[in-house]
Amino acid sequence: MTQEKTMEILDKKLEKAESRGELRLHFQPRIDIESGRIVSAEALLRWEQDGSLVPPDNFIPIAEKTGLIRDIGAWVIEEACRNCRRWQEIGLKGLPVSVNVSAVQFRWGDLERIVADALRHSGLDPNLLEIEITESRTLEEEDTSGQITRIAATGVRVAIDDFGRGYSNLARIGQLDVQTLKIDKYFVNNLEGDPKALALLAAIVDLSRRMGLEAVVEGVETQAVAAQLATIGCSRAQGFLWSKPLPPVEFETFALALTPIMVQTETSEDAWKARRLSA
Ligand code: C2E
Ligand code: MG
Ligand code: MG
Repeated sequence: MTQEKTMEILDKKLEKAESRGELRLHFQPRIDIESGRIVSAEALLRWEQDGSLVPPDNFIPIAEKTGLIRDIGAWVIEEACRNCRRWQEIGLKGLPVSVNVSAVQFRWGDLERIVADALRHSGLDPNLLEIEITESRTLEEEDTSGQITRIAATGVRVAIDDFGRGYSNLARIGQLDVQTLKIDKYFVNNLEGDPKALALLAAIVDLSRRMGLEAVVEGVETQAVAAQLATIGCSRAQGFLWSKPLPPVEFETFALALTPIMVQTETSEDAWKARRLSA
């Protein structure tokens, strides 16, 4: 079968996925490394097809190409806000949610309305919603940065996702109304045994701190990596060490019962001070 044909079939099925209730959101905790406590959760989309879950990398690019991402993206924001509002009621008060937004979702110019609608429908405090935008050239377009600024002005937080991997325009990030830098898991994957990867990571964490941004490292799978992160002053992370993305009910159970995983190392703050003193 040609690639076009496969795409056509997937597109047809995907078009009906939302109305058939085949789309699911899973949630992965963001953790404060030092205390092991949960500080936020990222909503990650899954498509349940014939009993198995299709990962987003297999269908989001198609949805972006065909424009289906507009409806799917709106569904994701609604569903994430609804879940987060629920967390506030069940003992997870103050726990925010992060939602991934494709650069192409800015194309139609209605993202502000979609976000505002989801907040209104759910009754969620805007400060408890963060949108994650993967860095790309689109962020350079005035129209996109205008939309980001207006969304941020409503109290919604903005994160740059997969930072440091693709297209890193530091000047642009300085101009955008952004609060969080999510550092790509590439750096973590190469941390053990590669001093340059650690140096790069430390530099990005330092940069975030100087810019007043929260640095979050993705893809942490081992205690050893988490301990290294703490030594370079990085306090926030996500990864399989703490939890895989979980279906909503399992996530709630996990978050309510979380026994913090303590990373045995000097505290991030001490490490930071030590580094400043030796600099
Ligand atoms: P992302 O936003 O950077 O999400 C992080 C990805 O890393 C997730 O993959 C997550 O399951 C995976 N991950 C988390 N911890 C670990 C770890 O310790 N080790 C490893 N190897 N992987 C880890 P996932 O769920 O397959 O999502 C892939 C990408 O698809 C996301 O990357 C995001 O760019 C996109 N995506 C997911 N949900 C949505 C959505 O609702 N809308 C849009 N537009 N994109 C989405
Ligand atoms: Mg993300
Ligand atoms: Mg990422």
